[in-house]
Amino acid sequence: MEPAPASSVRAQAARPNRNRLSRVSLDPSRTVAELHELQELTGDESGAQRVAWTETWERAREWLRGRLDGIPVEEEVDEAGNQWFTLRGGSDRTLLIGGHIDSVPNGGWLDGSLNVVAGVEVLRRIAEGGRPPLSVRLVNWADEEGARFGRSLFGSSAAAGSMADQDELRRRRDAAGIALPDALREHGVDLDRAPDARRQLEDAVAYIELHIEQGPVLEALDLPLGVVLGTFGVERHQLTWKGQAAHAGSTPMDRRRDALAGAAKLALEIRSIARGIGGGAVCTCGNVVCKPGIVTSVVETAEQLLDQRHLDASQLARMLAATKEASERFAREEDVEVSWQRIWGIEPILFDEELIELADESIREVAGRSHRLPSGPLHDAAEVARAGIPTVMLFVQSLRGLSHTRLEDTKPEHLELAVQALDRLAARALERFAV
Ligand SMILES: [Zn+2]
Repeated sequence: MEPAPASSVRAQAARPNRNRLSRVSLDPSRTVAELHELQELTGDESGAQRVAWTETWERAREWLRGRLDGIPVEEEVDEAGNQWFTLRGGSDRTLLIGGHIDSVPNGGWLDGSLNVVAGVEVLRRIAEGGRPPLSVRLVNWADEEGARFGRSLFGSSAAAGSMADQDELRRRRDAAGIALPDALREHGVDLDRAPDARRQLEDAVAYIELHIEQGPVLEALDLPLGVVLGTFGVERHQLTWKGQAAHAGSTPMDRRRDALAGAAKLALEIRSIARGIGGGAVCTCGNVVCKPGIVTSVVETAEQLLDQRHLDASQLARMLAATKEASERFAREEDVEVSWQRIWGIEPILFDEELIELADESIREVAGRSHRLPSGPLHDAAEVARAGIPTVMLFVQSLRGLSHTRLEDTKPEHLELAVQALDRLAARALERFAV
């Protein structure tokens, strides 16, 4: 096996600091223009095409590098493929600003890229003000989306020390049959060494990330910005309902053991269970596969997929228990059997209370009102928080709540407010953590 190159460091040309008294300027409209430029460069009529570990993704990373020309930052690509830009400050302690430039195929123009491009503008503003009290690093996480190999949060989990599935990743292939380690090697990443990226978080004192909401909550409240309290805990299960296949013509209605009837009752019941738990609880029946699946037979087996999410671990457990209880009741009512198999789960990850306060203040300063909300989707920020680094995220309103589609959009004036809020939050965090 060919060894991957050691992480590369490249210093960029330093520009002399301007007069400290000259007005330090943030230009949020430049972020909007640059996001359009990136979309021109890496998207097409179907949407963004910056899938990680592809040429288009490399082009986007190269473009990002170009945006930092003229700012005295050092670039480093770590063992997991994460791209870091470091502005040295008065201390090695570091404020991290992060995002991901990769997209899903036919994706939106803002998911992930907003965070990194806004982060560039914030770095420009900080660099213009002279040497910051802490070092400031912008990180472009590698493969947040997992679009090619089905493994999300690749770079951030490596840096957070939570990548525990390397054996399984070694066997993963994309749709064209290319193995994950081979694809990564083409981009200078050796899967075996990816966990060495862990040292990147050693000096981090705080992590902040701006993201589009990807949901409808802020738009419904008519608010541009919100503070994220954390990411939902998730319980994913497959239920197997077992009845008896029987002829659709000869079996009277009261003699049937219909597996689909149990699944159908539960698919409706989860709505009132989630409502009863409250606090943002969501529960989804994503699929039911029926066997034998023909029009002339009662359903013998129904395999049902359930996804449950909550920000509070005990409420999530309550929701799961209530759903199990309901499934057993419906199994009795329909004279069928039900069994549960856990597919995947993750604990809720709560963001840092003090940073949540600072984020709230920053949003109120630029937009008047703020709102606190949980995140349904997982983000790189969750991995960083899991590693014990105080973390917070800002959400900006998504029009129609749409994301992972070319229809994803946010009003330009809201994008500009988001850049200002991220900048205010960075300034507050620098002040707070400077000792
Ligand atoms: Zn994203």
